[in-house]
Amino acid sequence: MEVRSADCRALLPLPECLERDWARRALALLQGDAHRSADTHLIKPVFSGLDGISIYLKDESTHPTGSLKHRLARSLVLYGICNGHIRQGTTLVEASSGSTAVSEAYFAKLLGLPFIAVMPRSTSPQKISEIERFGGRCHFVESAAAVYAEAQSVAEQSGGHYLDQFTFAERATDWRGNNNIAESIFAQMEQETHPVPEWVIMSAGTGGTSATIGRYIRYRNLATRLCVVDVEHSAFYDCYNSGDRTTTCPRGSRIEGIGRPRVEPSFLPEVIDHMIRIPDVASIAAMQVLSDRIFRRVGGSTGTNFFGLCWIASEMLKQGRKGSLVSIVCDSGSRYTETYYNPDWLKAQGFELTPWKDALERFLDGGELSLPTG
Ligand SMILES: *Cc1c(COP(=O)(O)O)cnc(C)c1O
Repeated sequence: MEVRSADCRALLPLPECLERDWARRALALLQGDAHRSADTHLIKPVFSGLDGISIYLKDESTHPTGSLKHRLARSLVLYGICNGHIRQGTTLVEASSGSTAVSEAYFAKLLGLPFIAVMPRSTSPQKISEIERFGGRCHFVESAAAVYAEAQSVAEQSGGHYLDQFTFAERATDWRGNNNIAESIFAQMEQETHPVPEWVIMSAGTGGTSATIGRYIRYRNLATRLCVVDVEHSAFYDCYNSGDRTTTCPRGSRIEGIGRPRVEPSFLPEVIDHMIRIPDVASIAAMQVLSDRIFRRVGGSTGTNFFGLCWIASEMLKQGRKGSLVSIVCDSGSRYTETYYNPDWLKAQGFELTPWKDALERFLDGGELSLPTG
């Protein structure tokens, strides 16, 4: 279009760039957090019964906020700023069963933004106090299924931004690399006897980590397969088998951080090679057994991961296959002293761990997995 000089005088002056100044300072703070962080360890516990099979665990409990959600929270906040949704003074809101909210509260504080976590009332007291220590506010709902709509409405009422981990986890993380968890694991494996793992085993909460790993395996053209382990009260496993994304599950998961009442948008079954559903009692038993073996307490979802890893290791042993298996320590056991590590709580929940722990101990030392029946 031709612009005449008269039109030019009617044009508005160019806007000041104050908003972008804040975004630039925020970006520098987020990049500083990443830059100060060392990569997390890939630990290699040795179990005498697992001849020819090397086990690796990516220890995500050592992030400043104690779980793999440190990566997700940084990515979600970065995504919100770069998309222009998070600005100076924006209240951040999240639906979270705990760990994500702890990490997001940390980043909100880093950027000087208010933070509200919408969570089920059953969330562990340790997580609630961690969120509050970072200056976050907790907003409770009665059922796990109610968190999404409530978070949306809290964000609308406060003029804030709903970070929405369950929708954006799969896309806020750069799946091709940029030191995502998959790139880090495969780089750390490079010098090993079996550098390309037979399997990576991971549980699903948002599904974001398994999406990143599954995509990265395809992108890098690796022979590794991805096994996702699910828990008793969760919609993921049935969705994987039926293909029905509208699957729901009436009861909330008893393993914090994983298992969801609905199929989350970030759960991508197409990049998963196999799924296993693990009894909750087995997850907690595996959590305790692994904690004893690596001299440090891990969380419940790590138990789910470890039980799945043992199952696959047992199948490999039966077939005489050698190779490596990788899984993830998602968080530490310090958040669960009142629950999964508390004998009274376990008893009240009806969990009888002994036969499962005995079976796992025998497997790790002798190589034969014979699980309790009934
Ligand atoms: C979120 C979470 C997971 C699962 O990770 P996703 O990437 O969300 O699927 C596992 N364990 C713990 C403790 C978590 O907080």
